[in-house]
Amino acid sequence: MPRHIVVPKLEKYEGLTNPCDHIQGFKSIMECRGASALIMCKIFPSTLFGPARTRFNQLPRHNVTNFGDLSEKLALHFSSAQRKTKTSLDLMNLDHELGESLRSFLARFNRACLEITYVQVEVAISSLVITVRDEAYVCSLTKKRPKTMGELYVMGDKFMQSEDMMKISQFSSSSAPAKKEVGNRDIVKLPKKMRAPAAKRTSHKYCLFHKDHGHDTEDCRHLKDEIEGLIRRGYLKQFTSDK
Ligand SMILES: [Zn+2]
Repeated sequence: MPRHIVVPKLEKYEGLTNPCDHIQGFKSIMECRGASALIMCKIFPSTLFGPARTRFNQLPRHNVTNFGDLSEKLALHFSSAQRKTKTSLDLMNLDHELGESLRSFLARFNRACLEITYVQVEVAISSLVITVRDEAYVCSLTKKRPKTMGELYVMGDKFMQSEDMMKISQFSSSSAPAKKEVGNRDIVKLPKKMRAPAAKRTSHKYCLFHKDHGHDTEDCRHLKDEIEGLIRRGYLKQFTSDK
């Protein structure tokens, strides 16, 4: 090291972030001070510690001719230490916990999708089919495979709504003591009987709220109105929050 060069205080690098940033930072500081490539090669190892130092020691140096060459080899060698960006395959690691609502799980799933630069819809669907515990949703996913992430979200919304309605329907038909627990027997108004004669109603559709056939629970207008009223009055926080 020539006498006129004062060794600057250099940032230390552990190998956990992008190596190019560290190498470039080091290079520009050293070049400003007129250090030659040979000097840079000699000083550079002192900026490394921990895993970065170990990796540097593993680097074959007999064929390194200058700092440019060294930094290129270092960047390549350290590249696996760079923070990996998430891919669609990471969705496979999600787990639909026992007892966790579909709403809660899909909220976590959607957050995970946001961390992925490009979500492959096929991989997203496969991970849902493997993970989700809601059989009706999985069945629908495999039968009417969504073609885009938009379609996938729409389908999820529909099933979350059904899930909420089922819970409310169960809540509304629960016994008097269960309702007492929430402090009010009249929270849910039970619907009036269906007006159309039974013979004129669709026989294969059943509404859990009306406890009669004619339409599906998720299409029940009375239940929808009831739910909206309950949400306005703040009763359904446990069903409408993410967790
Ligand atoms: Zn109904």
